Amino acid sequence: MYFPLQDIEAARLNVNDPEHLRIHSLETFGTHDGPGIRMVVFVQGCQFRCLYCQNPDSIDVKGGTLVEIEELVKRAVRQKNYFGAEGGVTVSGGEPLLQRSKLTHFLKNYISRGLTPALIQMAV
Ligand code: SF4
Repeated sequence: MYFPLQDIEAARLNVNDPEHLRIHSLETFGTHDGPGIRMVVFVQGCQFRCLYCQNPDSIDVKGGTLVEIEELVKRAVRQKNYFGAEGGVTVSGGEPLLQRSKLTHFLKNYISRGLTPALIQMAV
């Protein structure tokens, strides 16, 4: 089921606060969300209601914590040596594309620091 109000609310957040990403949690040593060792950013907010939601407390677009995007990039850069050749950053959720403009900002900064492209896990 699709809940457009969540999308509208998230669109406002994308425009009004482009420097911060609303996240549910951060895992700094993830081994299940992509190859190698990964920093997993679980974003907050989802416009879907999957019957067996894997992370129901990440649905509310007004929940979670606002974190500075630059701070997330710095954390990823500090972890670069742990990532090795295969690891990197995974963005999961929640629904990452609800905060797409902020994610674009995050990914551009992240790649410009020489890190490998990130994985984005979306609802399908
Ligand atoms: S897309 Fe993910 S977070 Fe959203 S309802 Fe489905 S399982 Fe839950």
